[in-house]
Amino acid sequence: MMRVAVFGSTGSIGVNALDVLGRHPDRFSVVVLAAASSHGRLLEQCLRHRPRYAVLEDPQAAATLAAALRSAGAATEVLAGSTALESLAGSSEVDAVLAAIVGAAGLPSTLAAARAGKRVLIANKESLVVAGRLLVETARASGATLVPIDSEHNAIFQCLPAASVAAGRAVPGVRRILLTASGGPFLRLTREQMARVTPEQACAHPRWRMGRKISVDSATLMNKGLELIEACVLFGMEPGGVRVVVHPQSIVHSLVEYVDGSILAQLGNPDMRTPIAHALGWPERIPSGVESLDLVAAARLDFEAPDLGQFPALALATAAAASGGTAPAVLNAANEVAVAAFLAGQLGFLGITEVIERVIGRHQNRGETGLEAVLEADRWAREQAESTLARVARA
Ligand code: NDP
Ligand code: MG
Repeated sequence: MMRVAVFGSTGSIGVNALDVLGRHPDRFSVVVLAAASSHGRLLEQCLRHRPRYAVLEDPQAAATLAAALRSAGAATEVLAGSTALESLAGSSEVDAVLAAIVGAAGLPSTLAAARAGKRVLIANKESLVVAGRLLVETARASGATLVPIDSEHNAIFQCLPAASVAAGRAVPGVRRILLTASGGPFLRLTREQMARVTPEQACAHPRWRMGRKISVDSATLMNKGLELIEACVLFGMEPGGVRVVVHPQSIVHSLVEYVDGSILAQLGNPDMRTPIAHALGWPERIPSGVESLDLVAAARLDFEAPDLGQFPALALATAAAASGGTAPAVLNAANEVAVAAFLAGQLGFLGITEVIERVIGRHQNRGETGLEAVLEADRWAREQAESTLARVARA
């Protein structure tokens, strides 16, 4: 029996993870559920999955949840705050942590799980962008296993030899990684049209139903930029060894090319339960609830090069990957602030990339990758982005 903690259980990944976990009560027990403030949804999840602990970031929401659980006669203990999450990530009552918090807010608990030598199922790509080197080195030192859930990285993981998994080292024989991108909802829009898009349009992804932050990232293609950094970190690649290919059908989830010219791909319906089930069951295969892919109905698989003029976020992320040091942390923090401002109606869609570009332009990168350096870079970039917002919004 694997005892699983789901961090970010009320989100899109969390809900899909609980769907898969609920199909295998003989294999997995859910011991921790955690979210930021969604106490109503967490209550429902606690009543269904009966975890030992439930954690909410927000103390008031935690108090509300605790009262509701008491009156329902549930034994789940409620804790509040991010330190509770960190100690549970390292607890002897937990075997695996499914890291599905959105944003750099997920870093402390993901790192705690890596330090404690857990099996870490990582959806929280921002933690790998901000502190990737630290995470893979920590995992290597503690014996933690990192299994990627992000569909592209899970696909790459599946296409690599079993012994080489996500240890942050280059895999012998690999020539390059082909990272597929759906292109998002605005693939065929002009820059003039993109200037007028609304948060609702940006969140209406043609293939995937996801949280709002990653949906906007998919629309700017920053998501693919973050994923390029994530791929370099997990699989020990240089940015030049990862090529982004737009594949609008989202059926081929990514590919690995070997030095002999062979290319291995992983295909499937666009449903996150496949990578989640793979990560949970690995090295075994377990049912996920996902239907068979009908290749005849799909009929065609198209591939094209991304247009970096139309989607400058991808170029910014590629440059940050090449710079290394604190550049990815700065890119990520500026992006989080700009996306939140866009979702709140305070910034136009094209302003997102503009804010990031301005913040990166002011950043002094000393090449450090330690925890203090990346956290300081994150804090600095958030401040810079906040003060840049008003200027870009007026421009
Ligand atoms: P959602 O916005 O749907 O969910 C985010 C989850 O994180 C919620 O449970 C939220 O709780 C919780 N949360 C946010 N901040 C905190 C915090 N400080 N402490 C504790 N919990 C917190 O996001 P997604 O599920 O879409 O994405 C989660 C992660 O997975 C992201 O990093 C994303 O990039 C990655 N990912 C997502 C994919 C997808 O298909 N959705 C695909 C690949 C990767 P609350 O409900 O209370 O706000
Ligand atoms: Mg992805």
